[in-house]
Amino acid sequence: MSDAQLSIDRLKKVYETDDGDLLALNETSFTIGKGEFVSVLGPSGCGKSTLLLMAAGLEKSSGGSVTIGGKTVQKPFTDIGIVFQEHALYEWRTVLENIMLQAEIRRLPKESMQIRAYELLEQTGLKEFANKYPSELSGGMRQRAAICRALVHDPSVLFFDEPFGALDALTREQMRIDLEKMWLKRRPTVLFITHGIAEAVALSDRIIVMTPRPGQVDEIITVDLPRPRTKEILSSKKFVEYCDRITESFMRRGIIKY
Ligand code: ADP
Ligand code: MG
Repeated sequence: MSDAQLSIDRLKKVYETDDGDLLALNETSFTIGKGEFVSVLGPSGCGKSTLLLMAAGLEKSSGGSVTIGGKTVQKPFTDIGIVFQEHALYEWRTVLENIMLQAEIRRLPKESMQIRAYELLEQTGLKEFANKYPSELSGGMRQRAAICRALVHDPSVLFFDEPFGALDALTREQMRIDLEKMWLKRRPTVLFITHGIAEAVALSDRIIVMTPRPGQVDEIITVDLPRPRTKEILSSKKFVEYCDRITESFMRRGIIKY
């Protein structure tokens, strides 16, 4: 794909452990086009987080390459935003100060960044909490703040590593709905890591289904469903068929047993 915003080429990771070498990620290749929302879906331990860390330049690869916007990623890459499962906000900074940290690190103009920060806080329903500390927020609100922080500098790629994994089921559902709404406003390029089948189908344009460890691409599924993914779409026959197809492929590999 010539307009690939993120390109992963034969990326591989071997961890050296006390028990010898551990192949965490087998040669993995895929691309994400500009403005595309792509999920990486696979069982626990298949190397999803490792893949994300290497793509962001936060972990050294053992082979292969990553390019973002045509630039090779070799060290921590700044033109990205990341949201982890644990919100990773600084407890001693207010919500707004946490978000503005991005601007400070990147030496971006404070005034325009602050305007954008408030815009995002408004969109995520956090405007009244701008001057609160993380300890004063619920788990869902903290993840919303983390999403604002990842978006404020308008990065060329957004990475999510199981961002809703620590939330209760209802909050998780609402966060997914709100994330799609936010994404639709500017359509940033997204790599979204999850082990939730329905979550991946509900959010994605394409799904990279991984094999168990050592993970590699099993199949790539294009999710041809209109947006926004309304309640009707999420209970449609087509939606259920996508979920079934992935469930069956996990059953064939022994990841899910009935
Ligand atoms: P996932 O995110 O899909 O659950 P990870 O990328 O976290 O998988 O891990 C893939 C494999 O690599 C696992 O077997 C894990 O135990 C191992 N692993 C992850 N990080 C390290 C590390 N820093 N050192 C050694 N092994 C690791
Ligand atoms: Mg992980």
